Formats: sequence, C-alpha cells, structure tokens
Amino acid sequence: MNTIITKLDPENIDTAVIEKAAEIIGMGGLVAFPTETVYGLGADAERADVAEKIYKAKGRPSDNPLIIHIAKAEDAEKYAYTNELYYKLTNAFSPGPLTVILPKKDTVPDTVTGGLDTVAIRIPSNKIARALIERAGVAIAAPSANTSGKPSPTEASHVIEDLSGKADMIIDGGASEIGLESTVVKVDESSILLLRPGAVDVEMLRAVCENVTVSSAILEKLKAGQKAESPGMMYKHYAPDIPVYLVEGDESKVVEFFRQKLENNPKTGILCYIDSRDTVFGENVKYLDRSPIKQANVLFAYLRDYNSSTASEVYSVIPDSDGVGLAVLNRLMRAAGFQIIKV
Ligand code: AMP
Ligand code: MG
Repeated sequence: MNTIITKLDPENIDTAVIEKAAEIIGMGGLVAFPTETVYGLGADAERADVAEKIYKAKGRPSDNPLIIHIAKAEDAEKYAYTNELYYKLTNAFSPGPLTVILPKKDTVPDTVTGGLDTVAIRIPSNKIARALIERAGVAIAAPSANTSGKPSPTEASHVIEDLSGKADMIIDGGASEIGLESTVVKVDESSILLLRPGAVDVEMLRAVCENVTVSSAILEKLKAGQKAESPGMMYKHYAPDIPVYLVEGDESKVVEFFRQKLENNPKTGILCYIDSRDTVFGENVKYLDRSPIKQANVLFAYLRDYNSSTASEVYSVIPDSDGVGLAVLNRLMRAAGFQIIKV
C-alpha cells in the first residue's frame, strides 16, 4: 500500500488535507492522525470490516477493543447508553485526555469493542483530530498508531516507522502535547473505576465523583486466572526490544547501582533523574525531569530510541506515583514487564 504522508499545522489547518483524510475514512481506509495524548490510527467506527483492518495493521489481538473518538459529549448518544456521571466527567475534562467506558448500542460493531458489550469513548482536544472527526461525520475508532506491544507514537516519525505501507495516510501534526495515552475509566451512575491512568489523574476524578476505585492491575501484574477489567491489561505493552528493569531503593543506592552498571558496560541503558547527570552519564543514559508532566512528554520517545541504540538492557528509576506520575509509573512498569530490582 502506498501511504500518503502529509504535514499539517494544527494552528493553520489546510482544509484540503482534512477533506482528503475524511474521504479515506469514508471509503473504509486507515488514517493516522495526531491527538494530544499520542498518535491514533483511525477508521470509521461504524464499520465492522475496517476495525479488522486496524487490528491487522497494528498486529493487535482483535479482542483488545478500540476507543471511539467523537467531537462532542452528546455525540455519544448515538453509540452508547450514557448517564449523568458521563456528562459530569465530560463537562469537567472534555475535550481532553479522558476515555469513558459505557454500555454500547448496536451502532458500534462487535469488532470495534472486541466482542464486549461496552464501548470506550473519547473527545480529543487536538485541533487536527477534531477537524477530522467533524468532517468525517462519524465516530473514528482509533487505537495508538504503533505496532502492538511497542511504545506508543508521540511523533509522526514513530508512526512512519511502524505503519508506513499499512495505513492509507499519515498526518504529521508535530509532537503530542501529553505523550501518554488517555485516562480510561469505567463508570456507572455513581462510581468510577480507573482502568488506565493518564493526564486526568485520580485527584481530578475525585473532584467530580468521590467514589473512585483504582484497578489493582495498574501497578501489579495480573495473577494467574485473574480476570482483566480491561483487555489491554493482559498484553505486553510499551516495551522496547531490549529488557527494561526498574530499580528500587534509596536514591543514593540507585545512583550507585547505575554507576556500577556503567562501569561494567558503558553502553548500558539508564533512565535516571536529571539531578544525577554529573555522576551518571554515557551513550545510552537518558534523563528524566522531576515533573511527571515532563516525564510523560518524553517517556515513549526515550523507550523507542533504545530500539536503535547500542544498549542491550535498560535500568530505570521508579518515578513518584503522585498525580500524572501514576500514569508514567504504569507505562514504565509495563515496559519492564513488572521486573523490579531491589538495591
Ligand atoms: P489504545 O487503543 O492503545 O489507546 O488502548 C485502548 C485501551 O482501552 C486498551 O487498553 C483497551 O483494552 C481499553 N478498552 C477499550 N475499550 C474497552 C472496553 N469496552 N472495556 C474495557 N477496556 C477497554
Ligand atoms: Mg496502544
């Protein structure tokens, strides 16, 4: 397949590009586009056959459902049985990085929801994403635009690497503002279950509804026989091609561990705090800010970089889990397959 690759400035959108992209969606094609979280690989959410195309292009198991993207909260009525809490949440956080799971209507094919009777709905804020959804006139089903299992794409170059020849069009709208996928919650009338942490954090959710439960699978490996509340929890995620280990202990001991690893092999991959840059350095050492928002911005690009590096393994600090930090920690834990070294 010949993939059209087009640059588009979100502040000065060339409507001809949106027109072309919407036409591709209308014909059952696949368009990768920027969102504020990560890039998405989009298709018409009302067509059963195109969802299959998405799974195939990503190499994603077809029982791992897709998020459908709409332009405004009321558009969910066509696809799901909404409730008051849905509107409270969308009033507070949409458009933005929040996905709400609701009972689905028949307008959403089973292929999109991986056979589940619920559907995940998000209203993105990215201007290109919004223009495309509005012009397409249907909900756009879109998972992250990466090969399944790899770190999610936060720049068009990542999408091109994974999906060139597999998508009809890739829109390059620059780097993602947030860099981690949306917060995913399942809601009923009076409670919220957090399934995937994101930029809308637990405190923010509690400000809307006090009854918030955080799924244990966010920071722990599923136990044998334990049912996944969200299919995505079962699969390997976000990982570079080399092993990642998280290093737990007093900060000074963790820094010493990194130094020793680098002494043995200067090419070791290390993710450490920027404060240690005078003592921990090397070809494959990358630095994290203390701010979780800044960590989120760079994490996936860093993990992806390791694929083309000389490192054969990566050791990382364990970031604080406050606020957006929970999302950063969740992605790192999953990238590491929950492997932790205690020092
Ligand atoms: P991605 O497409 O990479 O952003 O991932 C979407 C995430 O939302 C995956 O972890 C899915 O398993 C999860 N998800 C989507 N739809 C549902 C649903 N109906 N119920 C539970 N989890 C869902
Ligand atoms: Mg994904």
